[in-house]
Amino acid sequence: MFDIVIVGAGTAGMTAAIYGRRAGKNVLLLEEGIYGGQIVNTPEVENYPGIQNIAGFQFAMNLYEQATGLGAELETGKVIDIQKQSPEASSQSFFRVQTEEAIFEGRTVILATGAKNRKLGLEQEEALTGKGVSYCAACDGAFYKDKSVAVVGGGNTALGDAEYLSNICKQVFLIHRREEFRGDAGLAEQLEKKENVILIRNAVVTELVGTDCLEQIRLEDVRTKETKRLTIDGLFVAVGQTPENQVFRNLVQLDEGGYVVAGEDCRTHTAGVFVAGDCRTKSVRQLTTAAADGAVAALAAVDYLNAGK
Ligand SMILES: Cc1cc2nc3c(=O)[nH]c(=O)nc-3n(C[C@H](O)[C@H](O)[C@H](O)COP(=O)(O)OP(=O)(O)OC[C@H]3O[C@@H](n4cnc5c(N)ncnc54)[C@H](O)[C@@H]3O)c2cc1C
Repeated sequence: MFDIVIVGAGTAGMTAAIYGRRAGKNVLLLEEGIYGGQIVNTPEVENYPGIQNIAGFQFAMNLYEQATGLGAELETGKVIDIQKQSPEASSQSFFRVQTEEAIFEGRTVILATGAKNRKLGLEQEEALTGKGVSYCAACDGAFYKDKSVAVVGGGNTALGDAEYLSNICKQVFLIHRREEFRGDAGLAEQLEKKENVILIRNAVVTELVGTDCLEQIRLEDVRTKETKRLTIDGLFVAVGQTPENQVFRNLVQLDEGGYVVAGEDCRTHTAGVFVAGDCRTKSVRQLTTAAADGAVAALAAVDYLNAGK
């Protein structure tokens, strides 16, 4: 029986493991893939306080060594179900956490399953990710200072990214497949007035062109089917994120986007279950906020465990 079972060994999960171990609790991390989460494939991280520049994989490895060095255990396995057990004779309930191959037991659970960026589904997309194609303006915008970039999307994230990038880049094209933007109309109007922002409506990106890095994109007008090429240095894809929390829908409350509902205290509606990082309902999804959540969730779990003693 572990004190804390953490689902997901990304930044949030591994930070939670560090805090859990330092509070003297035994901690299990369950990870379906390689530890590290979303950041592992990023060549450069420049916005984590106290670290000027680090490769994403190195950042993840440091976290892993810190967490396991403190005694956290890591098992590979995709968690497919979590059931709360409330035995009558016992003073405190516990959780059965099932992976595809094994069942683990924990007095508390921290969900830290992150989220995945939706892709455009284009041929070169994966090869050019980190080489001109990005899914995070706050993370990578600074690499495109005084350059030309495009943002794809029509919601508030896309509009916000275009606004953010317009203060850094020489030129920003905002590409949306419809006439009207889904996001805040006021923000769209504001962008339209900016000299270095060009809104391209009713268009989709159909091709990414470049070998070592992105050089051009091909756009298709959805009404006329006419195509044209646009020369840019960077493409920011802002067509949404997908959390993978559906397997936990009977355990915790999910919002309409599928994120686990919890406030800044990282406590879910189910006693003993906490949530940390990108999989939680929140507005800023970054390494700093994932790490902050990991600390908050772990200390909340520790309080819960100590109160039950
Ligand atoms: C390309 C890219 C570049 C980025 N650059 C930056 C940057 O420069 N600076 C910055 O601050 N942020 C950056 N971000 C955002 C940052 O990576 C995320 O905010 C952060 O990784 C969130 O951490 P997390 O632990 O919540 O989730 P994740 O990193 O997504 O980790 C979640 C982990 O849970 C695992 N998991 C999911 N479901 C299960 C399950 N059922 N069972 C077991 N394991 C499961 C996943 O495999 C994953 O390892 C970037 C993101 C991307 C995609």
